[in-house]
Amino acid sequence: MSDCIFCKIADHEIPSNAVYEDEHMLCFHDLEPQAPIHVLVIPKKHMASLDEVKEEDKELMGHIMFKIHEIAAELGLENGYRVVINTGEDAFQTVKHLHFHLLGKRKMTWPPG
Ligand code: 5GP
Ligand code: ZN
Repeated sequence: MSDCIFCKIADHEIPSNAVYEDEHMLCFHDLEPQAPIHVLVIPKKHMASLDEVKEEDKELMGHIMFKIHEIAAELGLENGYRVVINTGEDAFQTVKHLHFHLLGKRKMTWPPG
């Protein structure tokens, strides 16, 4: 997707403060952190949201979910963390490239806002 900001970050067209990268995914610090640690985990493959995940993406999705706890450990989130996937209008998804928010280093509230 040529006009997708997260595709450009995944392609290194736009620099990011990356904390983890492999051939399938990238993790980088959020521009407007909502917690002392707030990183975004994205697949390099463009998918607008969870709604666009297909059967063929199951392995990729599993890979990302599997890697998140390693990234959390690397970031020192031994006391816990929250993973958020805003999907669609009601959830205020603003960037239309699937991303997992990984937040930590503060007490979260429940229910979420
Ligand atoms: P959403 O609201 O779609 O769930 O989350 C989008 C997130 O992307 C927001 O937390 C926002 O701060 C972050 N964001 C938007 N544009 C950029 C950018 O260019 N670079 C980085 N690092 N984060 C961005
Ligand atoms: Zn994209």
